[in-house]
Amino acid sequence: MNPISLSDAQDTGKLLQTALESAFNEVLQSGDFINGAPVKTFAKALGNLVRVPEVITCGNGTDALQIALMALDLPPGSEVILPAFNYVSALEVVVLLGFVPVLADVLPDTFSLEPNSVKARFTAKTRAIIAVHLFGQCAGLGFLSEFCRQHQLYLIEDNAQSLGAQCLSSEGKSAYAGTVGHIGTTSFFPTKMLGALGDGGAIFTRDQKLATSMRQITRHGQSQKYTYARVGVNSRLDTLQAAFLLVKLNFLNFYISQRQAIAQQYDQLLQNNTFIQVPARSLESTHVFNQYVIQVPAGYRDSLRHYLHEQQIPTAVYYPSPLHTQPAYQHLGYQTGDFPVAEAICPKVIALPMHPALTLDQVQYITFHILKFFKNQTSFT
Ligand SMILES: *Cc1c(COP(=O)(O)O)cnc(C)c1O
Repeated sequence: MNPISLSDAQDTGKLLQTALESAFNEVLQSGDFINGAPVKTFAKALGNLVRVPEVITCGNGTDALQIALMALDLPPGSEVILPAFNYVSALEVVVLLGFVPVLADVLPDTFSLEPNSVKARFTAKTRAIIAVHLFGQCAGLGFLSEFCRQHQLYLIEDNAQSLGAQCLSSEGKSAYAGTVGHIGTTSFFPTKMLGALGDGGAIFTRDQKLATSMRQITRHGQSQKYTYARVGVNSRLDTLQAAFLLVKLNFLNFYISQRQAIAQQYDQLLQNNTFIQVPARSLESTHVFNQYVIQVPAGYRDSLRHYLHEQQIPTAVYYPSPLHTQPAYQHLGYQTGDFPVAEAICPKVIALPMHPALTLDQVQYITFHILKFFKNQTSFT
């Protein structure tokens, strides 16, 4: 792995700015702000990059999940299994569409759906599973795709955080995250792997029928202008965002290798400390490090964050509490204790600064203070 080079990142920054400005000017000149040419060009380029034939762009990653679920035409009362340790989107859209969300627990190291928990939650009404590729690597798709195949379930991959990661099968084949299940969804929120300068989303599929349905759904369900073949929504990627994304797509692989190099630096500096668990690498995936999430003993997490904040080091917590404990979802009837792993990891996780332009000096400064924090803890006890 190449060492992080500040000048590379800075050069890229300048290049990027110039390219974004000319993309902006082109769209401004064209006046074609909705469904302009860059939207199609971007969808095609993204499909080529992740090797999937159908890419449907839409307004954001949450819409992408909703459109995906709508396209499956599931019968009322269908149950959809999804992880309890997750961002809210998947749960939210299942509830909004009137289906029954069934939460399952996750693995303590890769945060991916735990196979036995999935099996235990499976019923005759289960119709789909939403696998979530958290933080930059694929959830365990080996088990999940086989389980879905056996039980004739749809597999949706929420790939908002792991665009560009490769899922590795036991036969050594690789496919891009989001292209393994029936439908994959992603987000272009500015902090994601491929960030727009605003909102955006996309949906991947190999199934032409689903692709047609999803294209219709994004346009109010129209099969042609003013013919509403089905109930739809209005969800579009703006021309301007597509033009920006086309520029940034050229940098995606560079960004990924920068992030991987930074993660390696973090690993080297942190992995020998007994208080710190560095991010686990799944054997079924590459890791593109949308986030670099370490785990520390629960009692130390918040004081560590506080200490780092005092040193001007920003951190974040994904996610502070599992979904089943959230006020809006109490009607689902889950209780504290239902998902022990999800509950145990929420107070332990802390995301360290991670972006492609982070320098080795900065990584050293951050890790120096993390190690100093734990050194002070031990000298007091
Ligand atoms: C960001 C994110 C989403 C939602 O994407 P938006 O574009 O913000 O709607 C969905 N799922 C996961 C796992 C995410 O990280």
